[in-house]
Amino acid sequence: MTDFAFPPPAAPSAEIAGSSQRFPIHRIYCVGRNYADHVREMGGDTDREPPVFFSKPADAAVANDASIPYPPRTSNFHHEIELVVAIGRAGRDIQQDRALDFVFGYASGNDLTRRDLQAASKQNGLPWDTSKGFDCSAPLAAIRPASRGHVSKGRIWLTVNGQLRQESDVSEMLWSVPEVIAELSTLFELKPGDLIYTGTPAGVGVLKPGDKVEGGVEGLDVLRSTIAAR
Ligand code: MN
Repeated sequence: MTDFAFPPPAAPSAEIAGSSQRFPIHRIYCVGRNYADHVREMGGDTDREPPVFFSKPADAAVANDASIPYPPRTSNFHHEIELVVAIGRAGRDIQQDRALDFVFGYASGNDLTRRDLQAASKQNGLPWDTSKGFDCSAPLAAIRPASRGHVSKGRIWLTVNGQLRQESDVSEMLWSVPEVIAELSTLFELKPGDLIYTGTPAGVGVLKPGDKVEGGVEGLDVLRSTIAAR
């Protein structure tokens, strides 16, 4: 037994659809700029450049149906509905045609963003940690095992208080799931327990305290969150 100086933090984990077992979270990777319509709304160039990766701490994950505290130091808190890929096997330099073998399952997730801090970071060439990797910034619904099918198409959508904000199809991703896994695995050794948020379509927008947020990807559990007071 390791003699810790104080009790170690609880291991972050996620729900698995149709199972009492939990998915232990190792790391949370995210892809930026993966739908052309969202790249355009952010003022970017839609030429297909290599995917942009960033990360969030594993303990930023939040369960479905949770109340999420409105984060500090922002007045422009945004939703980004995304397809989340859960990795089940270790691998590096993974070939695209074998990439789906490494997928444990899929979930609906929200890449919550302090947009004002992100804009300042972009302007000053600074890292995105404070705009993307804050506490409770990675809600996700239950992971549907890949044994029930891989996800390469299907409606992706998000509503706030019942009003449609984001709607597209995951087939519109500039970088497909196999391409994302192949590229990411050249930068990091992927491990069982990794989550990859694969990018958001157009329609990102503001969340306020009291908002009820619902969203997801066709065939996967709907992600529901409530934004609590500051
Ligand atoms: Mn995102």
